[in-house]
Amino acid sequence: MFILPKVKFSYNMFEPYFDAQTMETHYTKHHAGYVSKLNAALSAMDHAECEIEDIFENIEKYPSAVRNNAGGHFNHTLFWSLLSTNMTQVSPLLTEAIARDFGALQLFKKKFEEAALSVFGSGWAWLVKNSEGRLEILTTSGQDNPAMSDLGSYEILLGLDVWEHAYYLKYQNRRAEYIDAFWSVLDWARVSERFARSEKFTELVDKC
Ligand code: MN
Repeated sequence: MFILPKVKFSYNMFEPYFDAQTMETHYTKHHAGYVSKLNAALSAMDHAECEIEDIFENIEKYPSAVRNNAGGHFNHTLFWSLLSTNMTQVSPLLTEAIARDFGALQLFKKKFEEAALSVFGSGWAWLVKNSEGRLEILTTSGQDNPAMSDLGSYEILLGLDVWEHAYYLKYQNRRAEYIDAFWSVLDWARVSERFARSEKFTELVDKC
């Protein structure tokens, strides 16, 4: 069984950017729901994998209930790990890669904001590293992510949840304000670490 990971934050920690009620509902209801539905969907299969990476790498073998909920579990585990109240800096190595692939940090942010705003309905915006080591901004629908084999098997550096459940209580339909607030709670040190280490998912999500 996959388990809902413990998180280091308190629900009100990211006020005023992310409100406490949203954080609590998001973690205890939405994320917890993905975990329990993932377990239910896997237990209905005979030869289910127990590692989230293996599921993503062979995503075409799985029914949509596994795809959606494995994505939901990983995406939220990643998202929580990227939040911090410390104003962290982008590492020199990642700064260099961002400059190479986007021109500058401010230009990357602008492009990322545009991508996150452009997601129609529920989905995510991502910063990923491709197989040549270059950075790309991608978007996905639902709880899909770019690590899934049929979406390119990218290494994910950061992801922003743009489902309405992530912002509606505080920002209503003003997604742009929520995206702007994200920069104030994003742990760039963590993103830089993922970039430097090519971090595997298993370091974030326990095996079931
Ligand atoms: Mn969410």
